[in-house]
Amino acid sequence: MKTTVIPVKHPMDPDDLYIPGQALAQGAIVAFPTETVYGLGASAFLPEAVGEIFRLKGRPADNPLIVHLLSADWLNQVAETVPDLFWPLYEAFSPGPLTYIVPRRNEIPDIVTSGLHTVAVRFPAQQAARTLLQAAGVPVVAPSANLSGRPSPTRARHVLDDFAGRIPYVIDDGPCEVGLESTVLDLTTDPPRILRPGKITARQIREKTGIGVVSWTDTPYENQLVRPPSPGMKYRHYAPGAQVTIVLPGRGQSIEDAFLTRLEESRQPVGLFLSEASWALIRGSLPGIKVYTYEGESDLAGAMHYLFDALRTLDEMGVEEIMAEGFAGEEASAYMDRLTKAAVEPRDCHRVLFVCEGNTCRSPMAEAIFNDRFAKRGAHASSAGLSVIAGQATAEKASEALAEWGIAPVSRPSRQIRAEAVREADLIVAMTENQRARLKHFFPDAESKIFAMSDFLDGCGISDPFGQALYTYRRVRDQLGSAMQKIIDRLILI
Ligand code: AMP
Ligand code: MG
Repeated sequence: MKTTVIPVKHPMDPDDLYIPGQALAQGAIVAFPTETVYGLGASAFLPEAVGEIFRLKGRPADNPLIVHLLSADWLNQVAETVPDLFWPLYEAFSPGPLTYIVPRRNEIPDIVTSGLHTVAVRFPAQQAARTLLQAAGVPVVAPSANLSGRPSPTRARHVLDDFAGRIPYVIDDGPCEVGLESTVLDLTTDPPRILRPGKITARQIREKTGIGVVSWTDTPYENQLVRPPSPGMKYRHYAPGAQVTIVLPGRGQSIEDAFLTRLEESRQPVGLFLSEASWALIRGSLPGIKVYTYEGESDLAGAMHYLFDALRTLDEMGVEEIMAEGFAGEEASAYMDRLTKAAVEPRDCHRVLFVCEGNTCRSPMAEAIFNDRFAKRGAHASSAGLSVIAGQATAEKASEALAEWGIAPVSRPSRQIRAEAVREADLIVAMTENQRARLKHFFPDAESKIFAMSDFLDGCGISDPFGQALYTYRRVRDQLGSAMQKIIDRLILI
């Protein structure tokens, strides 16, 4: 598929986005800018288009989507009722980066809300987003336009990095103003509670409207992570390939000193994310270091605006470690939430074992893709087969499909699954349910850690491409690719 990039003209004409708007209304996926991050849009009332979004992102099905509306006039299409509190909040903060959780209407497809009784709604302020909504004329679901688990996109280029050739339209209106996702506010509890921190904080809500809401920082940590009222919060997000270290100055310490102290124990090559002013103070002592700076003094708005671009850019520079400046206080809770999630490391050496039949096609492809994405983060994959002809090389077309993604194939010959490999693995993933059943039969002690690909691919197994055309190998590769983030998430929950 060809991806058409539509640059936004300034000033905008309402007709400029007529074509992608119509395409959206008819079921196409359109990526577009909002003031928070770029969204991957689909019509909220077309379950197939919404399903395509989950598939493209590799997003877990239990993570509901936010429905984007042009104005409160559209509310009754998706919300059953709204509490009285909604109106002063809407007056003060919408359009803008605030999402409201309200009781849903039954007519919305279950896939949008992951079957919850509530729906998340937001009214974006960004002009291109509003023009597109107007042209589409329908409520639009729009999660961030990144592969699940990658840093969110704040430039059209980031969207293309993850989805070029896989979606028909990307609307390009430059960098997103805020740079972090919206604040999610639950209006179905009394008092309302912030479920995801964003630029708008509980303090701002109180100051502007007099309404008291439970702030993110007042939500006990266990509720934020273990029993998440907002399903998306339990997933690890925003992770670049490099290890992320947060640099927060200690009492009486300057940000420059904090960076210099941390740098002494850094992994090389290291990349820094900080303001130009802070960089100017330390650059003399650090020749040749990789760095991403934003203009001016160290400030939270600048750090928020540039964080995701910095994580992606430093990653592309090939650094092993990214050191990013941290900030204290409630206003910084959204920024620190994203940064902390990016910094969470898998436990030292999580091991996953992929299992197929002959260990020449599916499982070595899975091994190569997994190690390409996560080996740097201390997780490791190997593979084996249930009925192996020993000593076979990885299938040529498997290597070819991997090469198209810039991934080197597994170079050792095929090998039979052995009890020792089963013992050492934290997680074992078979390609089909039949293989899973056989594994459980042969290795009953390992039952609890044996899974099938269908557990990570919404019920779909991966059938054997042996002897088929390159096209089939590409499909296997794509399926494996979309399962990987869920597999690493599962490993981390173990
Ligand atoms: P994203 O679209 O990636 O910005 O994620 C949307 C966020 O909104 C996730 O954290 C979801 O868990 C949250 N969300 C969406 N719908 C609901 C809902 N009905 N109740 C609670 N949280 C929701
Ligand atoms: Mg997201």
